[in-house]
Amino acid sequence: MRKRLALIAHDGKKPEMVAFVKDHYDILSQMDLTATGTTGGYIEQTGLDVDKKLSGPKGGDAQIAAMTAEGKLDGIIFFRDPLGKHPHEPDVQMLMRICDVANVPIATNPATAKLILDGFKAI
Ligand code: PGA
Repeated sequence: MRKRLALIAHDGKKPEMVAFVKDHYDILSQMDLTATGTTGGYIEQTGLDVDKKLSGPKGGDAQIAAMTAEGKLDGIIFFRDPLGKHPHEPDVQMLMRICDVANVPIATNPATAKLILDGFKAI
């Protein structure tokens, strides 16, 4: 069954997300991708199809949290910028909490994200 993956990157981490997506293009092209608005726009430019939600600060992280709670995602890759301040920090915290409630894997850096993709390949 196709895996359902959400991708989110804070502004300071968007170049890292684009690089990650390009490095893992083949496996990502076999998944159903969702992303917050701006991150999704960058991902589309790599040629991948992605379902774009609202921009993170406008509620996109909350939409992805809702999808997680409803069992509509198998994993999340969220490259957070540990050096920035974010107006939607409460939504970010909510997303992390919902992932723990629903036992859905969430990677916050490329090393862990790679392990999630490798894990998906193995099952
Ligand atoms: P964006 O949102 O992809 O719309 O920039 C990401 C975020 O800041 O949570």
